[in-house]
Amino acid sequence: MTVTAGGSGFHPRLLLPTSGVSVHERGKDPGWASINRGVLICDECCSVHRSLGRHISIVKHLRHSPWPPTLLQMVHTLASNGANSIWEHSLLDPAQVQSGRRKANPQDKVHPIKSEFIRAKYQMLAFVHKLPCRDDDGVTAKDLSKQLHSSVRTGNLETCLRLLSLGAQANFFHPEKGTTPLHVAAKAGQTLQAELLVVYGADPGAPDINGRTPIDYARQAGHQELAERLVECQYELTDRLAFYLCGRKPDHKNGHYIIPQMADSLDLSELAKAAKKKLQALSNRLFEELAMDVYDEVDRRENDAVWLATQNHSTLVTERSAVPFLPVNPEYSATRNQVNG
Ligand SMILES: [Zn+2]
Repeated sequence: MTVTAGGSGFHPRLLLPTSGVSVHERGKDPGWASINRGVLICDECCSVHRSLGRHISIVKHLRHSPWPPTLLQMVHTLASNGANSIWEHSLLDPAQVQSGRRKANPQDKVHPIKSEFIRAKYQMLAFVHKLPCRDDDGVTAKDLSKQLHSSVRTGNLETCLRLLSLGAQANFFHPEKGTTPLHVAAKAGQTLQAELLVVYGADPGAPDINGRTPIDYARQAGHQELAERLVECQYELTDRLAFYLCGRKPDHKNGHYIIPQMADSLDLSELAKAAKKKLQALSNRLFEELAMDVYDEVDRRENDAVWLATQNHSTLVTERSAVPFLPVNPEYSATRNQVNG
C-alpha cells in the first residue's frame, strides 16, 4: 500500500491520469442524494456513503424516501450547480492532475477503488480547497463564518456550501450584528439557504441579541411558509422518533409534542418502568447523545427499508451491491472481486 502526499492512504491504482468523468455506475440514474454534500449518487456509491456514517454523509433516496419539498429542492439546486466540484477541487487543478491523482472510474470495483476514493473525498476531504495555513485557526473560522453570515442573504448556495466545507460555522453568532446566519437567511426569505444551514446544524430556535429566533424573523418578514418549515426543523428529531414509534407526527400548529392516545395507552412493564427511571436520571447532554443515537438508528432502518425495496425491483442487483452496508473489509472484498471476475 502506497501512501500519497497528504497521507490519504490511496491505493496505487488510483494514481493514474484520467479525464473528469463521473464515478457512478454507467447507465444508471443516481437514485440517492447526499444531503449535506449536495450530490446525487448511485446505489454503489450510496453503499459506501452509508458505511462512512451520517456524520460524513446523510443519504436519502430521491424517489422512495419522504422529503420536505424545499430540502429536496436545495439538494437538486446544489447538485445541478456543481457542488461536486467543491469536494474535488484539487482534482480540477491542472497541476494536481499532472501529479497523477485521479477520480475512480465507473467501471472500477466498488472495493477498494471507489470506496477509497469516496472516503478520501468526503471523510478526509483530500481534494477540498485548502486555505493557506494561519497561526490562529480560530481567526480563519471566524472570517469564514462572517462570510457565510453575509452570503446566505443571496441565493448562491454553492458559495455557502463551500464556506461550510472550509469550516464556517452554521451557528456562528456575529458579534457586531447580533444574529446567526439563519436569522439572515430567514429575514431574506432564502428558504434553500435556511435548509442548507439547518443540515449543517443551525438552530432555528437560536436567540439573536434581543432573544428573537430565526423563526420570529421569518414570520416578521412575511415568510410564513419558511417560518413553518423552520418550526418543523426545530422538532425534526422528536417528530421523526414519534413517527417511527406510532406512525403519527405532532401538529405544531396546536401545541407541540403531545400525542394523547399514546400517553393514555402506556401500560409500562416493570422493565419499562426501570428503563424510564434510568432515562430520567440522565444528564441533558447524555440524553441528547442518546436521542441522536436513536435518531441515527431510525434513519438507518428507514434507509435499509428503502434499499431493500429498490433492490428487489431492480434487474441490476449485482454481487457487489448485494451486501451494501457492511463496513469496508479489504480481505472480504478481495474475495468478492475474484468472484466477480
Ligand atoms: Zn456512484
